[in-house]
Amino acid sequence: MRIILAGYNLDISLIEQARTRAENPDAFTPETIAVAYARISRDPSPVTQLREKSINDIEAARRSARSIVFDMGHQSVAEHAVFNFDILDISRLCVEALQWHRLCSYTEKSQRYQELEEDFVEPAELEGEDLTLFRETLSEQFAVYREAYGILLDHFRQKHPDMLESKRDSKVVEGYAKEDARYVTGLATKAQLGFTASGRNLEYVIRSLRANPLKEARDLGEEFYRQAGAVAPSLILLTDPVEYEKEFGRPLVEDYFTRTHSHTETIIDEIVQGYRDIPGESEPPFPSSGGVKLLETSPDPDHTTLQAIIHAHSREPVESCARMARRLMEEGERAKQVIREFLRFSNPWEAATREFELAHFTFEVVLSAACFGQMKRHRMTTQLLQGYEPSLGYTYPPSVIEAGLKDSFERIYDRTSEAFTRLKGNHPRAAEYVLTNGHRRRMIVRADARELYHISRLREDAHAQWDIREVAGDMLDLARETAPLTLMLAYGKDIFEEKKSDLFT
Ligand SMILES: Cc1cc2nc3c(=O)[nH]c(=O)nc-3n(C[C@H](O)[C@H](O)[C@H](O)COP(=O)(O)OP(=O)(O)OC[C@H]3O[C@@H](n4cnc5c(N)ncnc54)[C@H](O)[C@@H]3O)c2cc1C
Repeated sequence: MRIILAGYNLDISLIEQARTRAENPDAFTPETIAVAYARISRDPSPVTQLREKSINDIEAARRSARSIVFDMGHQSVAEHAVFNFDILDISRLCVEALQWHRLCSYTEKSQRYQELEEDFVEPAELEGEDLTLFRETLSEQFAVYREAYGILLDHFRQKHPDMLESKRDSKVVEGYAKEDARYVTGLATKAQLGFTASGRNLEYVIRSLRANPLKEARDLGEEFYRQAGAVAPSLILLTDPVEYEKEFGRPLVEDYFTRTHSHTETIIDEIVQGYRDIPGESEPPFPSSGGVKLLETSPDPDHTTLQAIIHAHSREPVESCARMARRLMEEGERAKQVIREFLRFSNPWEAATREFELAHFTFEVVLSAACFGQMKRHRMTTQLLQGYEPSLGYTYPPSVIEAGLKDSFERIYDRTSEAFTRLKGNHPRAAEYVLTNGHRRRMIVRADARELYHISRLREDAHAQWDIREVAGDMLDLARETAPLTLMLAYGKDIFEEKKSDLFT
């Protein structure tokens, strides 16, 4: 066996330094590796030579990439090229549009750990009175934020005097105040993030962002295209209407991205108008604190998990595994024992195993924008979103109520909702920029038990922010009720060892 480190991503300043001194500066592109790997499929030469060949004839390499990736539809080849972007001065709302794309990597400025400046994106869509209203509302939000931060800092210092003795814990106390004060800041607040994507995903991101109703998101897509397209034109090709038509002799049609959403929204709007009053069992409303409903699970999640474990660790056909799992379930204790033994060597840092992927759970969740900002990072779940909706109520951090700030938060939340309603008439999408972290939306989250283990470990843990901790706790409580065996060790990292030792004593 021979293993060769063939490449890795480097800081652009180092790439530029080397590029200016190089004899073949055009070869400084991630296309060379992607093409060499693409050629592995049909060319018997060692891959080391295929890489050399790409570097020595970059034009031929680009022609190969176009033909392999686009003519033959072997798009996964573009995944071997990787791009990193620094993204500054982007709004929280636009971060949501970007992070919708789940097979990429993101690390962003935390509003929990950093104090926010009055620094926000002015949506290009707004002008005149709308823009004035927007600016005034955002300024008022920041004024409340600054005042609340001071009051909450005092509140937390009084509440945790023991933590003020160490510098590290004092920072934690400051963090508590920051994380709760930020509920009144707007979704236009500027963020910063690092973003990493393969060529394949980047192209998808560009096409989808270009069709986004927000100009800021469209500009982001354009900028990705301009910068990545310049260094890897053969991999970011599907996004260029002129090059596309030249290459394939047909126009680039982006209806799928540009029209699906608005087209469907029109149809669904008619349906909602005509059918919403159908009589039926009235659903219990969400509590005013938001909430979680378990909509659906695999028919018998514990049986499914047990069957998966037997199947993956035997040579029995699935029907036989199902019968054995059923019998074990009837015997009760035996089923528990098998799953428990399967978990004997698990720890809170390693992912639960794939056998847990067959049992699934679907939830409807009403959550704040602050909480959604965290939920959206769980890329392996299926998430379907509604827009933010003031009629779903607002989220008040418990500290805000304890510190007597509820009225002041309520005033700015109401004021923001009024501004939103006024802006929405002219700007159905851009109006959301004005909403705060305390405004809410409805979403559907579907996760398998493996992902629920992960969510539980991170988000039910003592380090988790209180809002997502509550939502994750509610999701897990409901899921544990229907699948007590499958989720017998799904707990926050902080209590994992305790729960595990209870299980084995
Ligand atoms: C206390 C706390 C503080 C945080 N602070 C910040 C912060 O300041 N800034 C910030 O940006 N984020 C922060 N996060 C979010 C965190 O970085 C994760 O993005 C988030 O918890 C989702 O976890 P995940 O990516 O492991 O999960 P998922 O996306 O749900 O993935 C589940 C698992 O699948 C695997 N997986 C998924 N995608 C990939 C991939 N592309 N490559 C390899 N493996 C993959 C991994 O095993 C992963 O654990 C914080 C989270 C916590 C709990």
